Amino acid sequence: MKTIPRIYCASIATETNTFSPLKTDLKNFKETFYAKPNHHPNTPTLCSAIFPILRKKKKKGEIKLVEGTATWAEPGGLINSKTWNFLKKEILSEVKKAGKLDIVILGLHGAMISNNCVDCEGDLIKNIRNILGPKVIIGVTFDPHSHFSKKCEVNADIITVFKEFPHTDFVKTAKDCIDLSIKTFDKIIKPTISTFDVKMMTILPTSKEPMRSFVDKIKNLEKNKKVLSISIIHGFMAGDSPDLGAKIIVISNDHKKFGNKLSSQLGMELFSLRKNLAPKTFSANASILKAKKLSQKSKKPILIADIWDNPGGGVAGDSTILINKAISMKLKKVAVGSIWDPVAVNICHAAGEKSIIDLRFGGKISSSTGIPIDKKVLVKKIKRNAFQKFGTSYVPMGDSACISFDGIEVVLNSNRCQTFSTDLFSELGINISNKKYLIIKSTNHFYNSFSPHVSTIIYSSVNGIYPNNPKKNKYTKLIRKIWPITKNPHVFYI
Ligand SMILES: [Zn+2]
Repeated sequence: MKTIPRIYCASIATETNTFSPLKTDLKNFKETFYAKPNHHPNTPTLCSAIFPILRKKKKKGEIKLVEGTATWAEPGGLINSKTWNFLKKEILSEVKKAGKLDIVILGLHGAMISNNCVDCEGDLIKNIRNILGPKVIIGVTFDPHSHFSKKCEVNADIITVFKEFPHTDFVKTAKDCIDLSIKTFDKIIKPTISTFDVKMMTILPTSKEPMRSFVDKIKNLEKNKKVLSISIIHGFMAGDSPDLGAKIIVISNDHKKFGNKLSSQLGMELFSLRKNLAPKTFSANASILKAKKLSQKSKKPILIADIWDNPGGGVAGDSTILINKAISMKLKKVAVGSIWDPVAVNICHAAGEKSIIDLRFGGKISSSTGIPIDKKVLVKKIKRNAFQKFGTSYVPMGDSACISFDGIEVVLNSNRCQTFSTDLFSELGINISNKKYLIIKSTNHFYNSFSPHVSTIIYSSVNGIYPNNPKKNKYTKLIRKIWPITKNPHVFYI
């Protein structure tokens, strides 16, 4: 008779921008998303899709399940050591109390750094391995914007990573991790991990070439019987880590040599594409000028993405640089979403809808994100606990408000979050089809939701607090040679 595996699952995730003026503590985790064991909602969050999938398997009688804690903090600055120690202890004590386990499934991000630990995920997986021993199968999901360490590689059996950026495949990634872990338990497969250090740091949106074809290629390669899974770690340039940069992970079915060869071939192919991977970007001034010119012939709005003032990358999301440019160039029919400003939101809520007030908003967290804007504004709409959807997950925007002045409408929110979807505007009563310009804050997660509604997307590289140039970033932990800091870090291979 088939043995049913006993599985423990947990999710602990954030993305740490070590250069950010923000800091991260337990309050940030608890306020963003914190579910005690057995209290995870039925809908997934980006890094916790393992929960609803495992519950379905439990319902079908395919597994026994011990649910652990699931938590996520909106990306921010360094985590204080007390918070990391608390979260780690919580997970490890749950593992110890879980009784005999066959499989552990973890939904992690992979770029968590605290004051006292530069590789939180590696530390966590290693500690779980030490508690449970070598026979228990450990499966992990990661976000590609992560630092993949040796500790993660040697202590996990299965590693799957979102292939898409925007991360539209987070549920499938969780499903793949669970299926491969159960097949390993059933001895149907023997996973063998091969990795390759691409020695490169750039951004790799999969909504454009050449990354689109590269991801499609690895999906096809996964149909090869020797291959169980292929993942690409993109790296996260705002985290000062010794493991920073792109990596390839090939999990073969007990074909180590084949896996090694494939991972290095794919890695060098990706490296050869390095100069064309990031989207073409424009300065703040050039972005607004280009949008103004294009809008004359366009029936749909022009979208300007403020790609670096993205709360999803650990910054505040309160930069006013692009809005101030739009104001100075007298653009009308503009919608901006969103500016993180809980104080301004409170004032709008207290004033009430349809009131006209003097309001100062934005530009509060750093001297390099523009000056606060002072305007007489109409409070068009206020909303408690606004949400936007990203795939099947709900992203809380917190209490929010829509203000209007000089032909410009701005969404203000109180829960830091990037612009994932057009819901961000419709929740606050803004019809984007009536606008000529949309200014949003996201690097690429906005893409799938917005692209059908806009004629052009302008990726705007506004210099602010985000460390967007690896050549200039003052890394202290990174000692490996990576491009573009080193022109050719693979000198011995070429
Ligand atoms: Zn990511």
